[in-house]
Amino acid sequence: MLIARNAAQVPALRASFLFAMYAILSHTQGSVTSWIRSPGHNAAHGGSTASLHLLGLALDVVFPTAATMARAKLLAKAEGIHYLDERDHVHFQAMPAGSNIVAAVKQFTTATAMEEKGEA
Ligand SMILES: [Zn+2]
Repeated sequence: MLIARNAAQVPALRASFLFAMYAILSHTQGSVTSWIRSPGHNAAHGGSTASLHLLGLALDVVFPTAATMARAKLLAKAEGIHYLDERDHVHFQAMPAGSNIVAAVKQFTTATAMEEKGEA
């Protein structure tokens, strides 16, 4: 997995993340329940203001069985993909929490919020 150090590297990271996740989910029958979120939608669902869902760098997934979920976690780990078991779904993301890309997410969120208010 690539490491994005600034916002310009996000598209390449997103592509490699989705490529890897496609392979993992096609082998484990995972279904994506959330991918890209607008800042408003993210806030309404209690998402972090630095959520990687805002950049399309996170997926929420449900699995048909505990065994397929466990297999997906192992495959993700091998690909350098980070995950958090949220009990009713697994959150997968391209970067570790607290990485530098969080600053890019906040920049994006602020710019989008200004656009929504007509300030940009
Ligand atoms: Zn999530």
